[in-house]
Amino acid sequence: MPELPEVETIARDLQRWVAGAVIVDARVAWDRTIRHPQPPERFVAEVAGATIRRVGRRAKTVLIHLEDGRVLTVALRMTGALIVAPPGAPPDPYARVVFALADGRELRYRDVRKFGRIGLWPGGGLRSVGSGRGTRSRRVAEGSPRYRIGEVFAGHGPEPLSRSFTVQRFAERLARRSARLKTLLLDQAFIAGMGNIYADEALWRARLHPLRAADTLSEEEVRRLHRAVRRVLREGIANRGSSFSDYVGADGEPGLNAERLAVYRRTEQPCHRCGRAIRRIVVGQRSTHFCPRCQPEPVASPR
Ligand SMILES: [Zn+2]
Repeated sequence: MPELPEVETIARDLQRWVAGAVIVDARVAWDRTIRHPQPPERFVAEVAGATIRRVGRRAKTVLIHLEDGRVLTVALRMTGALIVAPPGAPPDPYARVVFALADGRELRYRDVRKFGRIGLWPGGGLRSVGSGRGTRSRRVAEGSPRYRIGEVFAGHGPEPLSRSFTVQRFAERLARRSARLKTLLLDQAFIAGMGNIYADEALWRARLHPLRAADTLSEEEVRRLHRAVRRVLREGIANRGSSFSDYVGADGEPGLNAERLAVYRRTEQPCHRCGRAIRRIVVGQRSTHFCPRCQPEPVASPR
């Protein structure tokens, strides 16, 4: 499942390749991929003729900003991918939505398991999201004319790579919670963009056990975790993401980060730091990998 580094890689690829491109037409092969507007025919009619201004990311969603201020959101979920296909490329049976570009290329949304969703929204309200101000207090229902892109992300936590995500802010958020660290790092309302891979990697890097309760961390441990979260995400981006099965960049190529991971899916293999065998446990139904020596068990078990 694509997490922050994988989605960021796709967004940066697309920024290079499709910024300035004109969408002349769209084809929807699987109706349920379209979240908004409904029905899909309306989505097609509204997106046709739009020019792509720039491509970015919020949480695990690709944001395609259009010249007129509207925003296309692409939530990749389990197996979604956005691929730029050259003119005349053979059709892809797993392409659920295809955007035909004026220069003959296609921007294809490929999704084997079909959990991903695409929306087209009026602009506005995005900057205040995750800052703890604005949209949350005046949420409006999806489908209402006042529902803007900001509302789509109203429940999301801060971006871990943003400048405003400081140690102090992280410490305040952790101190208010008694949940286990692994569970909390996966909670998109607590911090945006983390998933199973980078949560396990960050906890190993910070030498913190996945079952530690958030409000038991010392100042030094909070600092370590803050640094670790940002480092594993930045390294993931530098290596173009971690590929296990379906994830590919917009060039259709897998990322290089999977082989650099320290604990994720390395059960029984030696820890890179101490040599002890990596263990796997299940936390909140998610498989969790850690080093039993580097990441000591909490003294008192959390609630
Ligand atoms: Zn170790």
